[in-house]
Amino acid sequence: MASSDNTHWRPAYIGLGSNLQGPAGQLESAIDSLATIRRTRLIKRSALYRSAPFGGIEQPDYVNAVAAMLTALDARELLDELQQIESRRGRQRDEVRWGPRVIDLDLLVFANLSTDEPGLVVPHPGIAERNFVLLPLKEIAPGLVIPGLGPVANLPVNMDEPQIARIE
Ligand code: AMP
Repeated sequence: MASSDNTHWRPAYIGLGSNLQGPAGQLESAIDSLATIRRTRLIKRSALYRSAPFGGIEQPDYVNAVAAMLTALDARELLDELQQIESRRGRQRDEVRWGPRVIDLDLLVFANLSTDEPGLVVPHPGIAERNFVLLPLKEIAPGLVIPGLGPVANLPVNMDEPQIARIE
């Protein structure tokens, strides 16, 4: 990728989840797709984590991961790219909330942005309560300070949440 000296690269963290059609493979392919986003670089990705579903719907376990990117896009452009990857990979946007899904990509954190507007809430609400986000985020970015939440290292693991295990 060509990079000019005045390009403004900002860090962004993406949460990935799947519990259908070979979740681990879905995540690996989605991570490959992240690496192809225009004006964006994939810097790091976490291990895969297996977690029990929440939300009271009977469904398979989830596989989750987090990726760290550097991007010259703005937050909306990046979210748009994530949604294009979701639709290309067969995600139906009318799925049941918290129901099973082939791939879910969330924009967790975007530089020091803190916003709540139609279609774009950043940092993503729920980071602090969801171990399947918190654990992979702590793994790849232990020094991260999240706008409004503080250092990720200080956010406690939620003991009430369903079981989660790193896939070795
Ligand atoms: P989901 O079912 O989690 O994929 O929710 C997708 C919807 O949430 C879309 O309409 C997005 O525009 C909206 N949304 C708002 N903020 C975010 C974010 N930070 N990351 C992902 N989706 C978001």
